Amino acid sequence: MTTSAPALSETVVDSHCHLQSLTDSQREVALEDARSRGVGGFLIPALRLEEADEILALCHRDKDVWCALGVHPHEASSWTGGHQKALAGLVADPKVVAVGECGLDFFYDLSDRRAQQRALREQWEVALDSELPVVVHNRDSNEVMLDLLREPCFEGLEGDFHSFAGGLEMAKFLIGRDFYLGFSGMVTFNKAENVREVLPYLPLGRVLVETDTPYLAPEPFRGQPNSPGHVVEVARRVASELDLKYEELCRLSTRNFYRLFAKAGES
Ligand SMILES: [Zn+2]
Repeated sequence: MTTSAPALSETVVDSHCHLQSLTDSQREVALEDARSRGVGGFLIPALRLEEADEILALCHRDKDVWCALGVHPHEASSWTGGHQKALAGLVADPKVVAVGECGLDFFYDLSDRRAQQRALREQWEVALDSELPVVVHNRDSNEVMLDLLREPCFEGLEGDFHSFAGGLEMAKFLIGRDFYLGFSGMVTFNKAENVREVLPYLPLGRVLVETDTPYLAPEPFRGQPNSPGHVVEVARRVASELDLKYEELCRLSTRNFYRLFAKAGES
């Protein structure tokens, strides 16, 4: 689990790690390893609202852990009006810095597409009402996502399109709307030119880095269970693609994290 020596003067934040999917002992080891490598913050995105209590308990245990609460598109068929009400109440917790992970996934299609759109809409409504950003999952669903984003009621929405792989055109639209793009271990994959090609167009004030633990471990750990310490490898690759020093990338992505997820700076 422990990788290269720390020797890092700058801290970096893992803006997307599903720490709730690890066992207690895995999580303890993963957090300790990550902190020793200079990872100074962790955002846990929920997959289901039923996980909220467990995730909140993890957040309240540690100063450097926050969460997004919401329902993943894979789980959207379970979404009801009752969930919207429950979510609206839960986000008042000081550790809830965003709504999510919400979105559309027409690649796996694990929930009915209409159910995905309804759940997404109603979560975005909660985010706007509570003045929180959103953490968005978008896979093979650009067209419908763009239609939703263009609706006047969602004009003021802010957020992070996490593990972005939506292509240049989508990226340009999102940049125009001041969304943040999250880069995961995919940025290190040999064939992921479609992920890296976006970076030169992205204002430095809109870059986030993440692991998407336990998925998408970066090279040279690809195929292994991922861990938040590997956000260091992600950040190194993003820095080199942008021709920045690692420390500069850490500094600016951390600043971006606290600007977007402003509640994390208060709790
Ligand atoms: Zn995720």
